[in-house]
Amino acid sequence: MMTQGLQTVSYIASSILFILSLGGLSNQESAKRGNLFGIVGMGIAILAAALGESTQGHGILIAVMIIASLIGIVVAQKVEMTSMPQLVAILHSFVGLAAVLVGFGSYLDEQTQSLTGAAHSIHLVEVYLGIFIGALTFTGSIVAWGKLQGTIKSNPLMYPGRHFFNMSLIAVSAFFLLRFLSADDAAQGMQYLLIMTGLSSLLGILLVMAIGGADMPVVVSMLNSYSGWAAAAAGFMLSNDLLIVTGALVGSSGAILSYIMCKAMNRSFFSVIFGGMGNAAGKKSEAVAITGEVKSITSDETCDLLKDARKIVIVPGYGMATAKAQHAIFELVKKLQEGGREVTFAIHPVAGRLPGHMNVLLAEANISYDIVHEMDEVNPELPETDVVLVVGANDIVNPSALEDAGSPIYGMPVIEVWKAKHVIVSKRSMAAGYAGIENPLFFKDNTRMLYGDAKKTVDALVQGI
Ligand code: NDP
Repeated sequence: MMTQGLQTVSYIASSILFILSLGGLSNQESAKRGNLFGIVGMGIAILAAALGESTQGHGILIAVMIIASLIGIVVAQKVEMTSMPQLVAILHSFVGLAAVLVGFGSYLDEQTQSLTGAAHSIHLVEVYLGIFIGALTFTGSIVAWGKLQGTIKSNPLMYPGRHFFNMSLIAVSAFFLLRFLSADDAAQGMQYLLIMTGLSSLLGILLVMAIGGADMPVVVSMLNSYSGWAAAAAGFMLSNDLLIVTGALVGSSGAILSYIMCKAMNRSFFSVIFGGMGNAAGKKSEAVAITGEVKSITSDETCDLLKDARKIVIVPGYGMATAKAQHAIFELVKKLQEGGREVTFAIHPVAGRLPGHMNVLLAEANISYDIVHEMDEVNPELPETDVVLVVGANDIVNPSALEDAGSPIYGMPVIEVWKAKHVIVSKRSMAAGYAGIENPLFFKDNTRMLYGDAKKTVDALVQGI
């Protein structure tokens, strides 16, 4: 058994490791170390909680930990990179459910019932808020999982008075908080808690149903934040300092990530949260007419351009992920480098469909971190670049974002590939990307379209070079 003092020290060590873990995750080179810090921190936290003086029922605890660990290992080994958002979404639902269960458990606990005065009221508010956030996170994450998995239709659910109805659910929940605080006994309090749990669960469903499938990554990141606050609330209920610290870390980092994603997509945070967007197909900008003609190029001609180039930049996008072209790209880069060419990658913050999507795929293909650069580093170098090879990217290289004030993506930072001498775009057709808008890049004088599936196209380039 662990003394109270040792448990506190362990909790402090875990908190520090979690902070180091988050710090490590901010950069690819240190990400592995960051993960390791997180794993060690969590290991210490679980041990300290399980061996604490006040912990009882070790038999049950060990049994459930073994079962849960086995499920975790099997699921994590089976999941494909493309299904990662779904896995994250469903894991958030567990945090939400845990907060709800802790809330009910804490309310029924004899100690809670024996509290009096302000301490009692404060604890009741903790319980109520913890369950409210937890239930919302639980059902919202399940709907997010369903939309990402394709089991629930990805269209946003729209109906008149939606915002008013959602606000009413919050207002009614607030009203029941007052009733809960003045409940005569535990049985009556329980009734109010159950009503609020129903309302909050419904709110979670409605909030996420209103969001289009393609906006789901932002929503998952936001639910990540909610799950953190739910955990922090559970920490207050259980008087567990580590849970409060960890929950606050997850809550704030999730909120910051959601904000960064919205900024990189030039979307308002609230338009994503309150839904109805993310289904932008068919939007057309009318402010600036696109001029010029689309010219295609063959893979042989592309090979000639690449062979003549000194400095090459590759811009990967969602199409590289769907085509699974990253390994072929690794081969191409190797060949180009062997021929003495300078090759770098330019990564847009929201390339693909989840944060860090491209970085993870390139790392999986063993592409060296040193040549993978952020958009801001690469943009100033593009005028001196001979060839930019865009692989399955569209919105993130759309000049309308800078030039066309009427465009839905106007103001979104983009990789300014058209400033290079030659731009080759590998995609299957002239189809639009996620934002559903035309891309004037394809009509520029120095752009050539290299049609076909990105994997097959890059394979052909590897052969040709
Ligand atoms: P886009 O969705 O803009 O474009 C991808 C392009 O890839 C399509 O135009 C498609 O054209 C092409 N493509 C699809 N499959 C293949 C294939 N097998 N081979 C070759 N090309 C293919 O992707 P980007 O990465 O440029 O931009 C990401 C977009 O997603 C942004 O609008 C961003 O805001 C949004 N988003 C990103 C999130 C994130 O966290 N990263 C979260 C939510 C949204 P074609 O059909 O002609 O082949």
